[in-house]
Amino acid sequence: MSEPPSERCIFCSIALGEIPATIVHEEEHLLAFRDLNPQAPEHVLLIPKRHILSVDSVEDDDQAVMGRLILAARDVARRQGIAEGGYRLVVNVGEDGGQSVGHLHLHLLGGRPLSWPPG
Ligand code: 5GP
Ligand code: ZN
Repeated sequence: MSEPPSERCIFCSIALGEIPATIVHEEEHLLAFRDLNPQAPEHVLLIPKRHILSVDSVEDDDQAVMGRLILAARDVARRQGIAEGGYRLVVNVGEDGGQSVGHLHLHLLGGRPLSWPPG
C-alpha cells in the first residue's frame, strides 16, 4: 500500500479521464500520455493509474506495475519510431531529483540527440 486510496492529484485526474490528455497507450494499470510541455520531439509520460507518490514510495507489491512501465515505454518508443535512433527514460524523484508532480511517472524522451550529464 503506497498511498491511501483517497489520495488524488492532477495525474490521477488524467487517469480518471477528468482532465484531457493526449493518450498514446493504455493498459489496465497504467497510462501513457504526451507531456504538456515537451522537452523533445517525443515526450511521453507513463504513469501507474493508482496514485503512487514517487519511486521512494514504491512497495514490493508494486513490482508488476513498475515492470510494465518499462515494457510499455519500450512499446511506445517503437510505435513512435524512436527506438532505432535511441531514447531516454527518466524518473525524477523528490525535490533534488526535480520531481514537480507528486505521482510517479516515467519520462520517455526521444526524437533528437540528448545531452549527458543532466544539469
Ligand atoms: P517532473 O518534473 O515531475 O519529473 O515531470 C512532470 C511533468 O509533467 C513535466 O514535464 C510537465 O510538463 C508535465 N505536466 C505537468 N502537468 C501536466 C498536465 O496537466 N498534463 C500533462 N500532459 N503533462 C503535465
Ligand atoms: Zn495521483
